[in-house]
Amino acid sequence: MPAKIISGKQIAADIRQELKAEVSELRRNQIFPKLVVVLVGNHPASESYVKGKIRAAEEIGMESVLIRLEDTISEQELLDKVDELNKDTTVHGILVQLPLPKQISEQRIIEAIAAEKDVDGFHPESVGRMVIGLETFLSCTPQGIIELLQRSDVPIQGKHAVVVGRSNIVGKPVALLLLQKDATVTICHSKTSDLAAITKQADILIAAVGRAEMITRDHVKPGAVVIDVGVNRTEKGLVGDVKFDEVSEIASAITPVPGGVGPMTITMLMANTIESAKRHAR
Ligand code: NDP
Repeated sequence: MPAKIISGKQIAADIRQELKAEVSELRRNQIFPKLVVVLVGNHPASESYVKGKIRAAEEIGMESVLIRLEDTISEQELLDKVDELNKDTTVHGILVQLPLPKQISEQRIIEAIAAEKDVDGFHPESVGRMVIGLETFLSCTPQGIIELLQRSDVPIQGKHAVVVGRSNIVGKPVALLLLQKDATVTICHSKTSDLAAITKQADILIAAVGRAEMITRDHVKPGAVVIDVGVNRTEKGLVGDVKFDEVSEIASAITPVPGGVGPMTITMLMANTIESAKRHAR
C-alpha cells in the first residue's frame, strides 16, 4: 500500500488558522505580537525565505518588519542594530537571516540576540534550556517536525527514531526532542559506517543531510514513517534527501518536498513570536 502523504502544507495552514485566531484575541487585549527580520545583503535563497516569513506573518495578522542592510555592513554595525531591537519593547521576535557575509561572525550575532526574543531558538541559552527540558524557544525546524508527527498521530513513545544528520539547527535538536518524547534515538552522520543497516531499523526516519535523494528504499524498513528535511536544488527542480517515488512505496507515511517540513518551519517561527509576546505581557 502506498504511503500516506504527510502534508506539511496542510498542517501548517491549519496551525496558521489557529495562530490567526490567537493573534486577534491578543490584539483585543492590546497585545500586538511583532517580528523583526533582518536581512543582510541579497542572497537569493535568503530573499525567498525572508519573503515567506513576512508573508506568513501578514497572513495571521501579526506585525512584521523587514530590515534590509547592505552586505558591506560591519559586525559592530549589525551588533548595534541587534542591541537596538533588543531594547525596543514593541519587538517580540528578532530573526537575523543566515548566512551572513564573511566579515561577520554568525555565532557572535546569534549570541547578541536577547534570549527572550530568540524566536529562532539558536541562542546557546535557548539550546541549553531545551537540552535540560526547561521552557524556551525551540528551534523552528525540529519543533515543526515534532508537530508534523503529533498532528499525523504518529506514535513516538518507545519507537526507534533514526536521525541522519547532526547539525546544530536540525539533526541534534530534533534528536533531543524525540528523546524527550520517549523515542529511542540513534544519530547518524557522514562518518557512520553502514548507514543503511542503521536506518533500516528506524520506525521513524528523519533525513536532514542536504544530499539529493540519498535515502533510497534500501535504507528504509517497510512501514516506517519518513520525514524528509532536505531541500536540494537540482536540474529537475527542488528535491529532498529521500528518493520519494521508491520510498513512498514501502513507507507507511512520508513528507513530500516541497510541501513537507518547509512550511512547518515558518509556522513555528510565528508560533514562537506569539508565545514571546504572551510571555512579555505576563
Ligand atoms: P548541514 O550541512 O549543516 O548538516 C548535514 C549533516 O548531514 C551533517 O551532520 C553531515 O555529517 C551529514 N551528512 C553529510 N553527508 C552524509 C552522508 N553521506 N551520510 C550520512 N550523513 C551525512 O545541513 P543542515 O542540517 O543545515 O540541513 C540539512 C538539509 O535540510 C539541507 O538540505 C537543508 O537545506 C535542509 N533544511 C531544511 C529546512 C526546512 O525548513 N525544510 C530547514 C533547515 C535545513 P557530518 O556532521 O559528519 O558532516
